[in-house]
Amino acid sequence: MLPVQELIDSEKDGDLRGIANKIVANERINEEEGLMLFEKASLPFVGMLANYRREQLHGDITYFNRNFHIEPTNVCVYACKFCSYSRLYAHRDEGWELTMENMLDVVRQYDGKPVTEVHIVGGVHPKMNLEFFAELLRKIKAHRPGLHIKGFTAVELDYMFRKAKMSVEEGMKYLNEAGLDSLPGGGAEIFHPEVREQIADDKVDGTGWLYIHEAAHKLGMYTNATMLYGHIEKYWHRIDHMERLRRLQDRTHGFNTFIPLKFRNKDNEMSDVPESSLPEDMKMYAVARLYLDNFPHLKAYWPMLGRQNAQLTLGFGVNDIDGTIDDSTKIYSMAGSEEQTPAMSTEQLVTLIRQVKRKPVERDTLYHHVQVFEN
Ligand code: SF4
Repeated sequence: MLPVQELIDSEKDGDLRGIANKIVANERINEEEGLMLFEKASLPFVGMLANYRREQLHGDITYFNRNFHIEPTNVCVYACKFCSYSRLYAHRDEGWELTMENMLDVVRQYDGKPVTEVHIVGGVHPKMNLEFFAELLRKIKAHRPGLHIKGFTAVELDYMFRKAKMSVEEGMKYLNEAGLDSLPGGGAEIFHPEVREQIADDKVDGTGWLYIHEAAHKLGMYTNATMLYGHIEKYWHRIDHMERLRRLQDRTHGFNTFIPLKFRNKDNEMSDVPESSLPEDMKMYAVARLYLDNFPHLKAYWPMLGRQNAQLTLGFGVNDIDGTIDDSTKIYSMAGSEEQTPAMSTEQLVTLIRQVKRKPVERDTLYHHVQVFEN
């Protein structure tokens, strides 16, 4: 008998045994069953199942990539309550606004270095429009054609397209032709309006976020998805969020990776909301691995969790710990994360992965293997 089957059979709760048997038989669990995993299952039980599923999909491989971020600005027309990063336009002197040349200088700093991806996200600046960013994309591609550009959350894109009076389809095609290769997963927060209206009521809603990703998928672009968890939402809001993603993925197969993002409470309007505990974080990863059965990859973003906690997630369904980053993002350090200057060398990432007995594989953005580090 498989060890996992012995553990399932020793579970006293019949409902949980039934869910686990479905998972082992590669059957899809429904919303009620997903909720039960959050509410009733012990952490070792969901962890064991998530680890089993991860191993079926990826063996002992853990992915990372070599990347850097460009954050064009933290000036933003929106005022999400959980955001520690943005400054309103009226207070833009407290923030930053990079010029085209500033951003191209960042790209040039990596000339001759073996990075494969630039990740571009920032605030929604009222004066940085679609044409400005299309020009940036063209200039980056002219300078370094092989660099994969993953850029702009659906929130940024929604604003750019509306301001340019373009449909989502037209705007996405325009940016894709200018050099945009794929989309990150930010801005998803919690889709359900009951929560979204309380924490981020003025930006694109859940339906609009999903529509933008669907438009990208239809152009053959891959995208990613996040969920901001551990604040005022209930477990069922998390399941609802993942269910909407799972349905879209069934139709398009355009998502690569799901990235749960832990709410941090430093210097924002939700500082009175306590942060989730470490066991709660691990449960989130495990349930995501089990519920999103059509998402190939589950990522722990190490600058948000800290290095040791990111290592821990590898036992709870995670198969990707993001990239070298090179201290090029402020989003999580400004919100109080453990990593105040997030940068890791390739050697450090490889060591981190090997310490938990996994095989490090450097990937490109689309999960092609760049280098396998045999143990
Ligand atoms: S989360 Fe994004 S959209 Fe919301 S205020 Fe912050 S930068 Fe702006």
